[in-house]
Amino acid sequence: MVQLKTETSLAAMREAGRVVAQMLTATREAAVEGVSLRDLDAVARDVLREAGAGSPFLHYHPHFAPVPFPAVICASVNDAIVHGIPDGYRLRDGDLVSIDAGALLDGWAGDSAVSFTVGRARPADTLLIDTAYAALEAGIAAAVVGNRIGDIAHAIGTVCRAAGYGIPEGFGGHGIGRAMHEDPSVPNEGRPGRGLPLRNGMVLAIEPMLIAGGGDRFRPDPDGWTLRTTDGSRAAHAEHTVAITDDGPRILTAL
Ligand code: MG
Ligand code: MG
Repeated sequence: MVQLKTETSLAAMREAGRVVAQMLTATREAAVEGVSLRDLDAVARDVLREAGAGSPFLHYHPHFAPVPFPAVICASVNDAIVHGIPDGYRLRDGDLVSIDAGALLDGWAGDSAVSFTVGRARPADTLLIDTAYAALEAGIAAAVVGNRIGDIAHAIGTVCRAAGYGIPEGFGGHGIGRAMHEDPSVPNEGRPGRGLPLRNGMVLAIEPMLIAGGGDRFRPDPDGWTLRTTDGSRAAHAEHTVAITDDGPRILTAL
């Protein structure tokens, strides 16, 4: 069931979203050559602690995962698409990094992700990342009262496909509120004019994931969490938590 949020709830979600933005800003600043993914997780934990916020990622244990998630961010490097576990891997020049972060503040969740490069960027990676943000922007622009979920999906998918990128099947955005994952699901590709009508007070995490090689296939790592492209090509991910309001889409996970 889709929960509509009141203006008071949206204000509380905005504060949770701000903490997520602070986590992403801090981890991104810390993400230089030689720094480990575990170091980045520690940076994000410090932000949560200072804000008095909890993590919806830590100990999250969905049915597909063999173990609970052990960190407060996902760190997915190069051919990892999403759900990377921050481990001892040290960042190298030219890496493409996606960081996904969540926070729980006063009982409300926020969820957002960024992608960026470390050191000297490959032009192909810059284009992939720029397209991920363009797809996110298109999805947000379609998140208006009177549209349907399919309009968001279609907007995202059109940007990704026009650039020749693949879209991992079966993964996408979601409703968000008291819990990180609520109804409805928000696919990254779909037919316009279809699906649930968008209403004032709906809050959605919109999150395009792009595969550079153009295929849609991926496989999990032996850790059961990290999803990698099967063709070895790189992937990018961008996400915001967005409220649908009578005044238009409102990004809740900005700084
Ligand atoms: Mg996320
Ligand atoms: Mg999400």
